[in-house]
Amino acid sequence: MGGDVSKDGPRSLNLSAVWHLQAHPAQVVATLPSRWARGFTLAQTGPPPSGNLTVDRFCNQAQGLKEGGLPWNKWYLKAAVQAHEEVHAAHCESDLEAVVTQRNIVDRVEQLGVANVPNKTLEQAVTELKTSEEFNALRSETFEKWTAKWLEGCDSDHGPDGEGPAYDAGDAVANEMRNTICTYAAGQLWDMGRVRLSTALLFPKQSTPD
Ligand SMILES: [Zn+2]
Repeated sequence: MGGDVSKDGPRSLNLSAVWHLQAHPAQVVATLPSRWARGFTLAQTGPPPSGNLTVDRFCNQAQGLKEGGLPWNKWYLKAAVQAHEEVHAAHCESDLEAVVTQRNIVDRVEQLGVANVPNKTLEQAVTELKTSEEFNALRSETFEKWTAKWLEGCDSDHGPDGEGPAYDAGDAVANEMRNTICTYAAGQLWDMGRVRLSTALLFPKQSTPD
């Protein structure tokens, strides 16, 4: 639902104007799930100098990339999560549009209005409209419709056993990095099973925890 507000004063020269919301075309933007944004370290794995791959970590990093973007898995890639979300965005944009462009929703949003009084600012009008009971009821109704639509179609991106196209897209990015890590580690003669004494001698154990 668009968040812009227009005042019909300038158009209609009506000085006792009313602020109205104006619906804008829906947009789907792929964003990282909020749990990632809230405090989980998104691992930037890879060989130095850009990555943080070390002899002590590479096993855990390779394993983490295999396990996927689970909240408790520290080593994963932002790009892999993004690739997953982009599958949803591409698949579901038309579904979201179908929900929010329903005439009865758009019309009802645009009919909402708050009276203008001298010195009322745009920000005040927006706050008033967005905190109004009517706006929030409409928002909940739209969200319910969208959730139903999601379950009807978009959720299939996850597949019945967690193997749908959204996971495939994330895995493709993660696997590429996993190969890079393993190739680099092999080139460094790091122990591909576990880091053991021989590599610890070559690469003094680092104090950075993983
Ligand atoms: Zn998903």
